[in-house]
Amino acid sequence: MAHAIIGGTFDPIHRGHVECAVELRQRLGFSRLDLVPCHLPAHRDSPDSSASHRLVMARLATAGIAGVGVDDRELRREGPSYTADTLAELREALGRNTSLTFVMGGDAFNTLQHWARWKSLFEFANVVVMERDGVTCQPAAEVMAYTEPRRVDAETITAQSSGGFARIALRPWPQSATEVRRRLQAGEPLGDWLPEAVLDYIREHRLYL
Ligand code: ATP
Repeated sequence: MAHAIIGGTFDPIHRGHVECAVELRQRLGFSRLDLVPCHLPAHRDSPDSSASHRLVMARLATAGIAGVGVDDRELRREGPSYTADTLAELREALGRNTSLTFVMGGDAFNTLQHWARWKSLFEFANVVVMERDGVTCQPAAEVMAYTEPRRVDAETITAQSSGGFARIALRPWPQSATEVRRRLQAGEPLGDWLPEAVLDYIREHRLYL
């Protein structure tokens, strides 16, 4: 068994999230990969969607995809979402020997030095950074110094239960939630950027207007 999670706001979930999750699971051999929507940081610009809407949309987008799902533990927790707490909880639930991997995009990795107790992420889990289309991966020097010695091939990361680090280039997907919200607000077409069920849900509940 090899468990993995992708953290994010998923406001809303889009095709890039879903396709990356499917490819990651297949290539890295996770038995389970969950998307974990976080509480929205207080400084976020509106328009945005409530936690319950984000959760429903994430569930709609992943329904029927083998081994990919949604974990709502950060939304059930009081206060801000710290990945370190989430991974500590999961480690406790999975036991010491099960492989656990946290996946983040290159844009998130570039800010890792500002995350609460970021080094502890490696105590509880492996960390995989997926390159993001159009984003240059430029981690802080202290993050580089900490992660490079832990580096392994992404394809072998599940051999370790925690402490490993890998980077992976997936098939590039141009979607971003910020651009999805902008287009919805401007009434511009989205093409195939959103799973159909998510777009229907957004229209039905008049979100992001
Ligand atoms: P925003 O545009 O508002 O920053 P987002 O599209 O990045 O939103 P998040 O919920 O922040 O959505 O993304 C969750 C995780 O998925 C992050 O680690 C992010 O880097 C990654 N991610 C999002 N979209 C893509 C994409 N198109 N390709 C690769 N990774 C992505």
